[in-house]
Amino acid sequence: MQRLTKQFIDNHWVESQGQRRLAVTDPYQQRQIAEVTGGDPADVDAAVTAARRAQPVWQALGGDGRAPYLEAMATHLEQRREALMRLSSTNNGKALAETAIDLDDAIACYRYYAGQARALEARQGRPVEHGMEGVTARTYEDPAGVVGLITPWNFPLVTSAWKIAPALAAGCTVVFKPSEITPLPEQALAEFAEAIDLPAGVLNLVHGDGEGIGAPLTAHPGIDKLSFTGSNAVGEKVMRAAADGVRGVSLELGGKSPILVLDDADLEQAADWVMAGIYFNSGQICSATSRLLVHHSLADALYDALGRRIDAIRLGDPLSDDTDMGPMTSARQRQSVEGYLDIAADEGLVAVRDARHRALPDQGEFIAPTLYRDVPTDSRLWREEIFGPVLCARSVESEAEAIELANDSDFGLAATVIAGDTERARRIGRALRAGSIWINSEQLVMPEVGWGGFKHSGIGRELGPWGLAAYLEVKHLIGRE
Ligand code: NAD
Repeated sequence: MQRLTKQFIDNHWVESQGQRRLAVTDPYQQRQIAEVTGGDPADVDAAVTAARRAQPVWQALGGDGRAPYLEAMATHLEQRREALMRLSSTNNGKALAETAIDLDDAIACYRYYAGQARALEARQGRPVEHGMEGVTARTYEDPAGVVGLITPWNFPLVTSAWKIAPALAAGCTVVFKPSEITPLPEQALAEFAEAIDLPAGVLNLVHGDGEGIGAPLTAHPGIDKLSFTGSNAVGEKVMRAAADGVRGVSLELGGKSPILVLDDADLEQAADWVMAGIYFNSGQICSATSRLLVHHSLADALYDALGRRIDAIRLGDPLSDDTDMGPMTSARQRQSVEGYLDIAADEGLVAVRDARHRALPDQGEFIAPTLYRDVPTDSRLWREEIFGPVLCARSVESEAEAIELANDSDFGLAATVIAGDTERARRIGRALRAGSIWINSEQLVMPEVGWGGFKHSGIGRELGPWGLAAYLEVKHLIGRE
């Protein structure tokens, strides 16, 4: 059994000071496959010290000097793609077809930010247009400094790429804490840092949980900026910790995203997109379109089409090519989703397919794909992020009602609009309060396009130039040249 008791600090594998050991599991086999250290504040301290020492050296390389390292990270991910897909599927439980998408996303992200590092270098010192005679103002973008990056378990290697790649491109040095639930694939990043001779201290990876590493990292005065992806409950703690010392914070939090099916939509096509928006990754997606708002004229036919598609989903071994949907990533997450299914039973929600509509595989933390219709807007299932394969639907009378209900949420991460008339869909998209609006498509993510939420879904944006800006401080030199 693999033992992840060492931290990658200053390009050395050093034994964690933490004594606690946490089980790392395979949620399909339902057995322990590794153990990871719970971490210790002393590990954080050593990592931050190394990152602080390395930061001026890394900054001095300039964007052109940093870009080849990001390209090398992408190349290593590419070379280990198949092995990492299997490792991630084993540790996370998602089907191989899904980890393939994750790997390609991460590879594209490191490549994209290599380009952004060069572009950053090229634009340093550009003059600002203004109206004051004889005075020149030039813009420079400096790294934010040493950054603490914390990620969840639902997209291993992806959520970390979205932070590490832009942070390194910007000239920041990194203390990265992956989720203790999925440390196995993330550990590869430290191995790559070593393999590509990344200067010592530039990327430090510290394993552990919230208590051992997360909280001490957010509280450490040597961290200039925090970037966190995870739950709202922990995100609020991170933000409070960042207040001490007035440090920057970016948050990518939860969602309860709507999908609108308008009266002129193609029904079969709409059904495909609804499926892709909620059952992918067993519903463990922050941007899952988990609230379906369908025009009443299509509702019954759409529920029928969805029921047929749900019946065709093959649950099983994530490593098998015959599997469409794997288990939940942990027993804890399965229990959390089951809690919502109990609430649905108590509330008497009407199921098109309930969680017991089929026999589950003999092993694995499975939840059957589930669809409830006519869900009241005050139901907890309608309002709260479930993070599982549970779709809640309502029919609406009009476009105006669809927009109103879509926006009636504390969250605002994403939304989908499905319509025959794309002009109309775009107009509705403009009226929705969310960061990503998919028009006649689902869950499209690319490194060039920004990512992040309105309202309780977070603060700041990842990906695109905005993802780089999150790790930069803007500076101006103004005077008579
Ligand atoms: P979580 O908040 O429980 O954990 C996230 C990370 O925070 C883990 O690494 C965990 O160890 C760490 N952590 C725990 N306590 C901490 C503390 N006190 N201080 C600092 N760090 C601490 O979330 P999770 O269960 O791993 O992930 C699921 C959540 O992530 C969902 O709410 C989902 O919507 C969200 N998510 C959001 C996005 C996005 O882009 N907006 C992407 C993926 C996941």
